[in-house]
Amino acid sequence: MTREGPGEAVVEFTGVGLTYPGPPPVPALRPCDLVVERGEYVTITGPSGSGKSTFLNVAGLLDRPTSGTYRLDGIDTGALKERDRTALRGSRIGFVFQSFHLLPYRTAAENVELAMMYQGGKRSRTQRAAAARESLERVGLGHRLHHTPTTLSGGERQRVAIARALAAGPSLLLCDEPTGNLDTTTAESVLTLLDTLHTDGMTVLVITHDHAVAGRGQRTVAIRDGVLSEGDTNAGVTDAGATSVAPAINGVPSETRENVA
Ligand code: ADP
Ligand code: MG
Repeated sequence: MTREGPGEAVVEFTGVGLTYPGPPPVPALRPCDLVVERGEYVTITGPSGSGKSTFLNVAGLLDRPTSGTYRLDGIDTGALKERDRTALRGSRIGFVFQSFHLLPYRTAAENVELAMMYQGGKRSRTQRAAAARESLERVGLGHRLHHTPTTLSGGERQRVAIARALAAGPSLLLCDEPTGNLDTTTAESVLTLLDTLHTDGMTVLVITHDHAVAGRGQRTVAIRDGVLSEGDTNAGVTDAGATSVAPAINGVPSETRENVA
């Protein structure tokens, strides 16, 4: 198993596709090859219904592809039992959603600590508290540890969500319209944070229909009608969103999640 160093694939799709069984069958993601190397910042863009959520669900180990091989950090995820996929997801993938999905009556620190319990690992309560503090400091919220989400701004809430995603030390930060609920100025600060994390070595994959956001990545991959292609070929698309049900991730129960990629 390989984990560290540049020039290694974090995400490696070989002929990965997903056809929903139907009836009628829906080929939502056509078999595709994609490599995201460690330390890359890649954006995925496409109009509503193009397959972005399907891609996210496969890349995030929420759904199994119906064809091909998906290696995450060199691990063939198709060969894993569900329990092992869940553990891999918890330890290697940090999710960031448009709607933050924070627990409203818990402080920023508690939100991060509780998620760490679901992410697995063997850290003690004290270690979790220390890691949560460190993660919140990393996103510039060291002074907001004991605030509940209702007393935080939208940008601060998304920072808590990013701190939560980072807490397990993931290989991949998978962001689903991370600035979709934010005004332009706040969105910019969140995008700047993602830039910083990328500069510090994080592998970042952002799904967006916003071309300004798509332009922040080093590389843009477009999806149209389930077909993945390098380069942003869409112009002026809008996305009404779609919903799907997925397992609990980042300690967020599935019923509180909405899938808006
Ligand atoms: P996007 O996120 O880009 O809006 P999706 O990945 O949600 O697109 O959907 C891609 C296609 O797959 C759409 O045609 C959608 O209707 C279809 N689809 C999504 N989820 C399911 C499902 N569970 N069963 C059948 N078809 C689905
Ligand atoms: Mg979607």
